[in-house]
Amino acid sequence: MLVQLTVSKRYHKPNKAVGKKLSQEYSKFDRRYPFEFGFNYYYQGDILLPAQESRVVIRQEAARWPEATVPYKIVGNFSLFEKMTLKSAMDQYHSKTCVRFVEYTNQPYFITISNGDTGCYSYVGFHANNLYHQVNLQTPYCMYRVGTPVHELLHALGAFHEFSRPDRDDWISINRSALLPEYQTDQFFENNFVVLPSDQVLTYNIAYDYGSVMHYSRYAGAASPNSPVMINKKPWFGDFGSETGLKQSDITMVNAMYCKK
Ligand SMILES: [Zn+2]
Repeated sequence: MLVQLTVSKRYHKPNKAVGKKLSQEYSKFDRRYPFEFGFNYYYQGDILLPAQESRVVIRQEAARWPEATVPYKIVGNFSLFEKMTLKSAMDQYHSKTCVRFVEYTNQPYFITISNGDTGCYSYVGFHANNLYHQVNLQTPYCMYRVGTPVHELLHALGAFHEFSRPDRDDWISINRSALLPEYQTDQFFENNFVVLPSDQVLTYNIAYDYGSVMHYSRYAGAASPNSPVMINKKPWFGDFGSETGLKQSDITMVNAMYCKK
C-alpha cells in the first residue's frame, strides 16, 4: 500500500525557527502540544520527509522495522529526569505491544534520539537509511510529558496523525477561520490538514479516537487559546490527544502493524 500526496513545500530539514518558536511561545500549561509548533516548517507540524521526496510516499508494509525491533542511540544532553521520561515512553510499547526499543550496539539500522533546538519531530517509518531515522525532542519542551516522546516514536514506527485519517470528516470539523491569519491559506490546509485517501491508508478497522496519542489538540495552529481549530462532531469530553501516552486504540494499531504474523 502506498500513500502518495503532493505537498507543495519541501520538509526535509530541521529548522531552528521551530525551536525558537517553541521556547518563546510554549509553556508547560499550554493547551497545545509541543509538536504542533512546527507548522510551515515540518509536514503537518512535526514530520520530516526524506530529501529526495517532495511528496509523502509511504510504502505501508515496507515501512515497518524488521523484527519489530528498533535500536536507538541517544545523543545530546538529556537530564536524568528526561532520560527516565524517555525510558517510560519506550516501556509503554514494551508492556503493551511486541515492539522493542533496544540500545544500539552494532545494528545496521537505528534511530538517533537528539534534543537539539529544532522542536519535536520524526520521519515516518523505516527507511533502510539512518539519515531518515532521526527523532528530535528539544529539551525541556518536548519532554515535559511522556505523551510527546510516545507520539514521535510512533511516527518512527510508521504511523501518521489521527486527524489525517480518511474518515476524519465524520468526526471533526476544522474551523479555518480560527487558525492564525498566516495559516489561512489553501496551501497551508493542503499541507497540514489534508485527509489521506481511503484506498491508501490502513486503519485496521480501528475506530477514530479523539484521545489517540497521534491526535493534535483542538488548538493546533490556533490564533487564540479560546477558539478551537478542530471541533468534535460526536460527543467527547475533555482534550484531544494524550499527554499520558498510548491509548487503547494506539495499542491496538501498533499490535496490528507489528505483532500479527
Ligand atoms: Zn506528529
